[in-house]
Amino acid sequence: MRAYNDTEALLTLWECALGQPAGARDDALLSASFEGAEPARTLGERNARLMELHARLFGREIELLSHCPACHTVAQFSGNCDALAAQMWPRLDDAPPHRLEAQGHVIEFRLPDSADITIASADEGDEGDEDFAQLLLDRCVLACTCEGTDVPVRQLPEPVLDALSQQMETLDPGASVSFALDCPQCATHWQAPLDVGEMLWQKVRAAAERVLLDVDVLARAYGWTEREVLRLSPVGARRICKW
Ligand SMILES: [Zn+2]
Repeated sequence: MRAYNDTEALLTLWECALGQPAGARDDALLSASFEGAEPARTLGERNARLMELHARLFGREIELLSHCPACHTVAQFSGNCDALAAQMWPRLDDAPPHRLEAQGHVIEFRLPDSADITIASADEGDEGDEDFAQLLLDRCVLACTCEGTDVPVRQLPEPVLDALSQQMETLDPGASVSFALDCPQCATHWQAPLDVGEMLWQKVRAAAERVLLDVDVLARAYGWTEREVLRLSPVGARRICKW
């Protein structure tokens, strides 16, 4: 993995991801940071790697805020990137297709990846009335039978769909991330979702924009080019502009 102890590398990372839609942006951050790594197999694996990247760039501790849905009090909470990444890593013993037997149905499926999310989101937007979860299942259920007869995905009974969704979550627990919180004011309990890629991107963007502002100030003050400013050692640059 590349080290990000210099500002030029941070700006390179920022440039790789800038202007990309969310899923592609997360993949761009990872491929720019983990040289030669295979693409993440699942959404949970991608989230786990993004957490590891956060630890490398900004430290292991993350501080987060959420608002109580009942009284809007701000709840502050924190997490450890290493511990969270360990929980997010997929539990895959075998390559897909995975198999589920429930209520006489036999289902072969694979886990959603970032391409599935992108395509399902686009189709949901175009059609308007298509359900996102259903669109994902259309893509990820590979075969489905009941007593030897093929069953269309959209005709699966609700309890079988629930069992399938639970099985997917067990295999890829980090696909969606949320924190269980209790309001310090009114004791309401809620789940605060965390978009790991969005959180990391906001930090990369803010750090890169701070650097660019400082580079601009230094370049104007000393009559240097931006490239000359970026070539300053991190220690020298910090001494001048308190990075
Ligand atoms: Zn509350």
